[in-house]
Amino acid sequence: MIELFSVTKRYASGQVGLDNVTLKIDAGQMVFLTGPSGAGKSTFLKLIYCEEIPSSGSILVNGRNVSSLPRRKVPYLRRTIGVVFQSFRLIPRKTVFENICYLPRILGSSAQEQKELAYETLRRVSLSHRMNASPHQLSGGEQQRVAIARALMNQPEILLADEPTGNLDPELSEEILRLFLEINGQGTTVIFATHDRDLIQRVGRRVLTLEAGQLTGDQKLPGELNDAIGPGQGTMGPGQGTIDLEEEA
Ligand code: ADP
Repeated sequence: MIELFSVTKRYASGQVGLDNVTLKIDAGQMVFLTGPSGAGKSTFLKLIYCEEIPSSGSILVNGRNVSSLPRRKVPYLRRTIGVVFQSFRLIPRKTVFENICYLPRILGSSAQEQKELAYETLRRVSLSHRMNASPHQLSGGEQQRVAIARALMNQPEILLADEPTGNLDPELSEEILRLFLEINGQGTTVIFATHDRDLIQRVGRRVLTLEAGQLTGDQKLPGELNDAIGPGQGTMGPGQGTIDLEEEA
C-alpha cells in the first residue's frame, strides 16, 4: 500500500512539484496519473522511489515511512519497486539479456539462475526469442518491453511507469498499456503516469489528475479494456507482504 499525507515538494528553484497531496493506493491496484506537462507526475513517482524527498508531509510504502529513509537504505527500497521511463534507458552495446541482468542483485546469482530468470521475465513481455538481440535491432515497442522486463527482474511489488508510451505511436502505446494491465493482473501494484488522456479513456481504472502539483481529480473511469483484462487483483506474481528494509541493511 502507498499512502501520501499532505505531501508537498518544493524544489530549490522555488518551483512546486507537488502541493499538499493526500491519497492512498491499495496493494494490487492499477492507478493512472494524468495531467499536463509540468503538473507533477514525475515528481509524484520520484517521491515514491526516493529520487526526491518531500519538503513536508510523509509517504508510507507498505507501512514504512520512506520520506525519512536514510540514504543507505534507499537501494533496499528500490529492490521492491520497478521503474520504467519514456526513453527506455537501455545500454546500446549490450544484448537484451545483459541489459535486463544488469542489476547488482541479479549479477550476484549464478549464470544458470540469471538465464532462467531472464527467460521467464522476457516471456512475460513476449520477448524470450530476442534474448540475444541488441537494442538497435528492436522496434521502439520491443525496446520498451525490454525496459519493462528489466523493471520486473527483481519481482517488484510496485511498478512505476513515467510516460512509458511517450515515444510510441498510438497502436504500440495501447499494446504497452495492455501489457501493464496484464502485469497488474498478476498482482503487481502499478502506477502509470501519462499526459495522454485518449490512451486511458477506456481503461476502467482509477485515474488521478494533477494540475500545478495539486490533486484535482480522483475518479474511476468506465471502460471495456478493464473487462478484457480482468479485475487487477490477481493471485499470481509477487507477494504483497511488507517491505522489510531492515532485513538486509
Ligand atoms: P510532469 O511530470 O507532470 O511533467 P514534473 O513533476 O516534471 O511534472 O514537474 C512539476 C513541476 O516541478 C514543474 O514546474 C517543473 O518545472 C518542476 N520541477 C521538476 N523537477 C524539477 C527540478 N529538478 N528542479 C526544479 N524544478 C523542477
